[in-house]
Amino acid sequence: MDIDLNSDDQHFQKSVRQFLSDNSYVAGSDYNEWRLNWFRLARDQGGWDVPKWPEKFGGPGWTPTQHYIWEQETARAQTPWDLPFGLSMLAPVLMNYGSEEQQQRFLPDIRDRKVNWCQGYSEPNAGSDLANLKTKAELSADGSHYVVNGTKIWTTLAHIADWIFCLTRTDDSGKKQDGITFLLIPMKQAGIEVKPIITLGGAHSVNMVHLTDVKVPVENRVGEEGKAWTYAKGLLAHERTGLAGISRSLVALEKLRKQAGSVTRGNGSLLDDPSYRLKVAELEVELMATEFTELRSLASAAAGAEPGPESSILKLKGTEIQQRLQKLTVEAGGIYSAAWGATPVGHTFAHGGMSGYLASRAYTIYGGASEVQRDVIAKNVLGLKK
Ligand SMILES: Cc1cc2nc3c(=O)[nH]c(=O)nc-3n(C[C@H](O)[C@H](O)[C@H](O)COP(=O)(O)OP(=O)(O)OC[C@H]3O[C@@H](n4cnc5c(N)ncnc54)[C@H](O)[C@@H]3O)c2cc1C
Repeated sequence: MDIDLNSDDQHFQKSVRQFLSDNSYVAGSDYNEWRLNWFRLARDQGGWDVPKWPEKFGGPGWTPTQHYIWEQETARAQTPWDLPFGLSMLAPVLMNYGSEEQQQRFLPDIRDRKVNWCQGYSEPNAGSDLANLKTKAELSADGSHYVVNGTKIWTTLAHIADWIFCLTRTDDSGKKQDGITFLLIPMKQAGIEVKPIITLGGAHSVNMVHLTDVKVPVENRVGEEGKAWTYAKGLLAHERTGLAGISRSLVALEKLRKQAGSVTRGNGSLLDDPSYRLKVAELEVELMATEFTELRSLASAAAGAEPGPESSILKLKGTEIQQRLQKLTVEAGGIYSAAWGATPVGHTFAHGGMSGYLASRAYTIYGGASEVQRDVIAKNVLGLKK
């Protein structure tokens, strides 16, 4: 897609490109040092280390077009790894509902990438139906702390997290959306046990987290007791928008074309094969349409709006597109994609193809399953009755 860039935007694009090329990683140097320095330098540019944070909290205050340019350019360049949990999931909750004391206590470390957070929402019987959560938080008689008991599941990177933001139940007498409380809990303490879950692709990224009589000071509660359903819903919308990965998919599509073009079919390449070509073309059309939705979403975010139902469209289409890209990569790699383990066989790009494909099955489950997104779209976008 082409969007017309005015001269200010062109200037901005040039300075982003310059920054990314001046500060790319030099092979062999200390990665961690480079990573932290990269964020410091990005900060000195005027909040580029926290592009989505509001200006009040140190963000750059970009226009939608500037956000779009940043997404496009960073998807192409090598930028340091970053995790969404503190930066784009918890931070907006703290900014909107946390006390000033909590904002001052937690936001600087999140911004400096000093502290890793994980998300304690899902439970064995609370996923799509999140309000069914049972992890109990009981306020002590003197009102100084909560005692938390329960189990969280699918907690991504809990094994390296310093803190968990947790939805807990403080009251089960009313509607299940009432009586939910948002607590911030340090992970490294007695009573917290993290058990790994190995997923289909063979990776350890998710865990089961058991909380037994964990004491949480009352000042670690965000917002009011029992009112966290509202905060949680806002956070989920931010999570969904972040999962779409449109710019990365655009880059991945370009890569896929090159890869398929390098695979011989008859006198030509796989890209000349009409059925494969059709699949790539269909994917490109959907990607373009989703990109427009993302632009609309950026425009309303820039005008100060919280993500709305368009975040469900982005999550649904964005993750399906990522899965289709993985599938077409596996198809291009053919039998070589099935090779598992350290030694590459056949096309270089095929190595790890199958484990990537298997891992991508989860994209349409986490952050809210596709069926649930379709429900949200039917209700809030199409106006259909339940
Ligand atoms: C890799 C991975 C990482 C994750 N990371 C985290 C994390 O860090 N923190 C966290 O809190 N959670 C995390 N999750 C959990 C994730 O959010 C849940 O898996 C998801 O919400 C679905 O819940 P569930 O697994 O309980 O499935 P269920 O809710 O039991 O759903 C099972 C099936 O039923 C369908 N279904 C359910 N309700 C409806 C409905 N109303 N209409 C139509 N169909 C429906 C679903 O679409 C799904 O196909 C992660 C999950 C995965 C797979």
